[in-house]
Amino acid sequence: MDDISSNRDPAELRKMLDYLGVAAFLIDVDSHDAFRLAAINARHEQLTGMKHDDVAGCSVDDLLSPEMAANVKGNYRLCVEGRAATDYREVLDLPAGRTYWHTALVPLMDDTGRITRLLGTAHEISDTLHLELETRYQSTVLSAYLDESPDGILVVDADNTMRTWNRRFLELWSIPEAVMEARDGEAALKAVTDQLVDPEDFIERVKALYASLEEEEQGMRIDMKDGRVLERYSRGLHGPAGVYWGRIWFYRDVTDRERMTEELRRLSQTDPLTGAANRRVFMDVLREEYERARRYRHPLSMLMLDLDRFKQINDGHGHAAGDEVLKRFVDVCTQALRSSDCLARMGGEEFAILLPETDLHAATRLAERLRISVAAMVFAGADGPFAVTVSIGVTDLDEEDTAEDHLLTRADKCLYAAKAEGRNCVFTAQGLSQCRQHPA
Ligand code: GH3
Ligand code: MG
Ligand code: MG
Repeated sequence: MDDISSNRDPAELRKMLDYLGVAAFLIDVDSHDAFRLAAINARHEQLTGMKHDDVAGCSVDDLLSPEMAANVKGNYRLCVEGRAATDYREVLDLPAGRTYWHTALVPLMDDTGRITRLLGTAHEISDTLHLELETRYQSTVLSAYLDESPDGILVVDADNTMRTWNRRFLELWSIPEAVMEARDGEAALKAVTDQLVDPEDFIERVKALYASLEEEEQGMRIDMKDGRVLERYSRGLHGPAGVYWGRIWFYRDVTDRERMTEELRRLSQTDPLTGAANRRVFMDVLREEYERARRYRHPLSMLMLDLDRFKQINDGHGHAAGDEVLKRFVDVCTQALRSSDCLARMGGEEFAILLPETDLHAATRLAERLRISVAAMVFAGADGPFAVTVSIGVTDLDEEDTAEDHLLTRADKCLYAAKAEGRNCVFTAQGLSQCRQHPA
């Protein structure tokens, strides 16, 4: 390219360059290693903080640090030796701080073809680079999240096409990567629903969420045929101005947690030796059943049972034999009860049974059956077989009762009376059970 700037003084050159909207500069090429700044334009001054009058005619070596000068001269030399326009990215530490540039150089030749000058234009790209870096940072962090997350994650875009997922998602659902890569939504959904206890409910819920873009889901329980329990979290993804971008789904395997919770619940509600409910559960059930029976005027009965002379059994046959008696006692009772009845160990060798929808007559008959079954049990003691008996107090809901405690107190009194009657008997609010005389 001919040098249109030849023989012009720096001020004139500068005026020409000012017409360019970008930062521009002219370099005088003295040799392959010696470059002087001939002119910079106003935009260059503005961006770099340099002044044309200060720098025009100065050697690059004088203007820049040795390291920056070496870099800059390397780029100039490439343009001179290549005899062609070049462009590159460069970092410049300017008074205003570190800046990033995309610079283009055009060689200018004299009549003999010698390159005498370079015309440079530079765009500052600091913001773009920072943005690029920030984007790259964000995507690195996101990949790490996806890779390391214990949740299976799936992202679908606005038209419900699967967009991204993580390894854990594939593991949780045993979906082949190929199905996902092919963006085969139908196949993926089938692979998922085939494993569910209630696929219809799952599909319905997913459809509802896709239809309701704003809706979030927090910890929806999903039961799988193989016994695993998953929890799902889901929310819509929205861009600027609320544009719907799709939805993100998180699937968390909570099987262990659920088992532990269930086990803790069971432990907190049952007596560990016999498996019967504990006193706390009995009181809760009693409260509920009392309210229900009062409201609907339905019958409700209660038995209070206490093993007779149990201390002697422990003393005579050992504590382990006593434990065995307690366990088998509970088994015998359980077999005689309906699922709606509640048997609880109230403490030691004392038990209570709540019988909803049962009147005093039926409750007394049941009590007698239990008494006879218990007496018929034979236990193996160290000194030969032995048997146990039980005393039972029976009562039912009274018109006069104003609290569930009244039922409990009356049943206790009846039990006390049964003990006083000589044990191995059933005592009701009306007195000693008539059945006792006809045990068979
Ligand atoms: P009564 O006929 O008047 O009810 O006499 P009892 O001996 O059954 O009553 P007492 O209250 O004097 O004794 C109850 C015994 O039950 C004392 C206690 O050591 C025993 N016991 C309480 N809990 C357990 C248990 O979990 N296992 C065993 N083996 N014994 C227990
Ligand atoms: Mg006892
Ligand atoms: Mg007792």
